[in-house]
Amino acid sequence: MVAFAFFYLLATYLVVPNIAPIFGRERIKESDLVQAHSFFYRLANRNYVRTELNDVIQNVAYKFEKQNDGIKLIYLDANFPFFDGFPLLPHLSHNDGRKVDISFVYKHQNGQLTNMKPSVSGYGIYQEPTADEYDQILKCKGAGYWQYDFPKYLTFARINNEIAFSEEGTQELVNKIANQKEVSKIFIEPHLRGRLGLIDPKIRFHGCRAVRHDDHIHFQIR
Ligand SMILES: [Zn+2]
Repeated sequence: MVAFAFFYLLATYLVVPNIAPIFGRERIKESDLVQAHSFFYRLANRNYVRTELNDVIQNVAYKFEKQNDGIKLIYLDANFPFFDGFPLLPHLSHNDGRKVDISFVYKHQNGQLTNMKPSVSGYGIYQEPTADEYDQILKCKGAGYWQYDFPKYLTFARINNEIAFSEEGTQELVNKIANQKEVSKIFIEPHLRGRLGLIDPKIRFHGCRAVRHDDHIHFQIR
């Protein structure tokens, strides 16, 4: 077991990063501006992207931090390092190095933005539709897509109970992503698109076969 762990870590940190470029992929660059939500994403080799996507991530983070001192872009699942078409479960489309999930922006009680997030895994804490908002979740589950809110089981735990969803911060982040010309699609749940007043045509509904996107943002490049 110890030997396995040793070789796994050796492979993860020394071997895999050197083979990934053959498949056109590299690790997401970590910095003061860009960070994995937890070490799990790096340890499990779920943090690989194409160079072009890495550049987009760094650009968005740089622009966002310039307006919001000290606030980082926190990423969740990206892609595995090898083979187009090999999906990163449970995200079926994360299979070509062109996709990444990132966290919403949250704030403290006093309104200040924070780098803290409400979920240990980064998924599964939803900004539910209110009574008068369109409820896509109900529609999808009613149509038999039981997996649509499956990530609620993948939260692991709720943490940082004092923080709240920042509509302004998340809106600004989505708009900065949309402004990047390489970005082709952004997924966020329809009721949040309405609530945040997001109008960029790149912001789409992902369909009932995916998972719900009121706990994170997904975006992809061409
Ligand atoms: Zn995604």
